[in-house]
Amino acid sequence: MMPPADRPSGILSRAGRAVRSALLGFAAAAVAAGLPAQEPAARSTPTRPGTAPANVAPAAPKPAAPVAAPKAAAPRAAAPKSAEAKAPSAGAYVGAREFSRVLGLEPAWDAAKKQLVLTGSNRRFVLEAETREAEFDGVRVFLGAPAEIRQGELAISKIDYLKLLTPVVRPGQGAGKPPGLRTIVLDPGHGGRDTGKVNARLRVLEKEMTLDTARRLKALLEVQGYRVVLTREDDRYVELVDRPAVADRVDADLFVSLHFNAVEADVERVTGVEVYTMTPQHQLSANRQPDDQVPVFNPGNFNDHWNAVLGFSIHRDMLAALKVPDRGLKRSRFAVLRHARCPAVLIEAGFLSNDAEAARVATQGYRQQIAAAIATGIRSYAAALKQAQTRAGR
Ligand SMILES: [Zn+2]
Repeated sequence: MMPPADRPSGILSRAGRAVRSALLGFAAAAVAAGLPAQEPAARSTPTRPGTAPANVAPAAPKPAAPVAAPKAAAPRAAAPKSAEAKAPSAGAYVGAREFSRVLGLEPAWDAAKKQLVLTGSNRRFVLEAETREAEFDGVRVFLGAPAEIRQGELAISKIDYLKLLTPVVRPGQGAGKPPGLRTIVLDPGHGGRDTGKVNARLRVLEKEMTLDTARRLKALLEVQGYRVVLTREDDRYVELVDRPAVADRVDADLFVSLHFNAVEADVERVTGVEVYTMTPQHQLSANRQPDDQVPVFNPGNFNDHWNAVLGFSIHRDMLAALKVPDRGLKRSRFAVLRHARCPAVLIEAGFLSNDAEAARVATQGYRQQIAAAIATGIRSYAAALKQAQTRAGR
């Protein structure tokens, strides 16, 4: 479990400020769209709405009035500070016909389920009206804002289109030069006086599980030729901000924070894996804690595009390998993600509050499986980088 530590970041770099001001035009559009005052519930139960096979003949996309392409926001001189403009602006949402065309996917609208199914090249994406929950290639993904019916067709927020759907469908598209992948920092959560979550009955400590899993993952990645650095090698306390600082120091290309989760209630039911990446600027995190960071550009936002590729790769590959309930790919402004200057991910690899899952996590064999699953996800991410590099080189 990750302590929220969702306070404003005081260490915006010069580069961060530059990017921040460059993004203001885009930001203005997002704010003008009016972020929902109350974040819709991000369903965390391992239900899988939208996975039922469509026994309804896929209908053609609803006939709709012509939809104007989203206009680029006019440059603004100052940062939009207030979210007073509550009136939704169509400009900050992108309609299905537009994004399916750009991404080369075939859309099919299921009116009964209010779902848009996008297919092509063995990919399948399900977006559902009035919810943030979506399904990408069979796994749960939480959008930053609910999909909506706008002007007779399903639309998603422009930020979700650019920073979630596009990276997952077309890694590298519109993202500039892909980053390298040579040095990987693994961050075993907690340590020392900070035990993290504890299953007292079974005497399973999160800080011990994360360190052992990180050591196993390190060995697997080193065999593949990566340089791997741990933020802690033993049972010691490391401040949250000092963890991504290790990545800075060794010029890391990738930061992976390892955690195990717990819930207070419903311990019998809640198990499985959830994966977090940094919340994009102007979006709401999946965890509904008050978040005064919404308009802020953090260092972690330098890599929104690659964070999405990374998070999706790891989440999908972990679920495929471990066959546990899918808690979703989510976004949060956890301190370690906020301060990371390279693509970064935080993995909650299981629930210690559930005795059966805690007992499994306590075995070396299962921790080895977790490490192998994460290594597979990193390999998928590396493949996506390579593909993007090849495309960029053409
Ligand atoms: Zn933790």
